[in-house]
Amino acid sequence: MGLSINSLVIHGGIDGDEKTGAVNVPIYQTSTFKQDGIGQTRGGWEYSRTGNPTRAALEKLIADLEEGNYGLAFASGLAAIDAVLSLFKSGDRLLVSDNIYGGTFRILDKVFKQFGLTYTIVDTSNLSAIEDELSKDSENNIKAVYIESPANPLLTVTDIAAVADIAKKAGKLTIVDNTFMTPYLQKPLTLGADIVVHSGTKYLGGHSDVVSGFAIVKDKELADRLYFLQNSIGGVLGPWDSYLMIRGIKTLAVRMDRHQENAQKLAKWLTESGYVEKVYYPGLESDPGYSVQKKQAKGPGAMISFTLKKKYDYRKFFENLKLITLAESLGGVESLVCHPATMTHAAIPKDIREAVGITDELIRFSVGIEGADDLKADLIQAIEASEK
Ligand SMILES: *Cc1c(COP(=O)(O)O)cnc(C)c1O
Repeated sequence: MGLSINSLVIHGGIDGDEKTGAVNVPIYQTSTFKQDGIGQTRGGWEYSRTGNPTRAALEKLIADLEEGNYGLAFASGLAAIDAVLSLFKSGDRLLVSDNIYGGTFRILDKVFKQFGLTYTIVDTSNLSAIEDELSKDSENNIKAVYIESPANPLLTVTDIAAVADIAKKAGKLTIVDNTFMTPYLQKPLTLGADIVVHSGTKYLGGHSDVVSGFAIVKDKELADRLYFLQNSIGGVLGPWDSYLMIRGIKTLAVRMDRHQENAQKLAKWLTESGYVEKVYYPGLESDPGYSVQKKQAKGPGAMISFTLKKKYDYRKFFENLKLITLAESLGGVESLVCHPATMTHAAIPKDIREAVGITDELIRFSVGIEGADDLKADLIQAIEASEK
């Protein structure tokens, strides 16, 4: 419809209620719909696993935001990933980014592997590593490349357009988890990806009060297969949570601007502070992902990872924070820190974790939209109090 994303977050999808003029999409809190005769539905609504008008409004909205043609809303990010992985079959293999969300690794390693869908971990930020794997694939069983960029938790940046190009030429799908960026900052479908997935629990919802997930595609045939899987597996988002997501997304643009402004300030300050060993943030010119991030996204986002200098005890640092909360999750208005080794990435075996750099000392920081100076003051007092 030609609107900017600042307007689309508010007016995209289905804007309000045609029948009554209500400016908000109504919550259709119903499991089923009356049929006027056998097969005579009012507008196609039958049963809320198959389709619900509140969920449909949200699905249209996320499709508009990602510049896809079809969106599907799920009960969690992992429910969306479950449906996407169910596109594949026994004997198929996926190439997967070497630092991905721990739960994504777990569903691949502990659930889908049992059914014969296998995976190979590659550093997707290294294009020749992907080309190598594809050229070695004599049985031609690789079916897709699965990317997070920036990846969780080391913020490694993968060139999405380049990977999608390589994959397309080899006849493989490209799947991108866009949770860390949101369509406000990055639109993988416009870069050539085939499927975008999200944990809507994070920035899209934005208020740490809903668990949800999405899959978005352009292609009609892929969409039909995903709708079939969504309805067959059944991990759908309920009407109330769909409404909360629509409500959260209305402020996505202003929230992301503030998140990012705070993160830029704090990443720069941390780097210069003398407190840290290393800062991972693709908004720093010194970061290896800086130029690719600049090319493919509108900004570096608001996730920062860092390690403190050896003289500070990272356990005490977590205990001493007062404003910033130690918790799983990210992307809410409130700042959160987490310890990936024991929290979000505990499902990844220690040797694999350490090999990619997810060490016990690593701290992941989801920068919220509070006052940047208050966040900085909290970091300073917690670091100082953690000196060994
Ligand atoms: C949280 C998260 C998921 C999983 O989403 P849930 O909503 O918790 O099921 C997947 N990918 C990334 C990058 C995440 O941060």
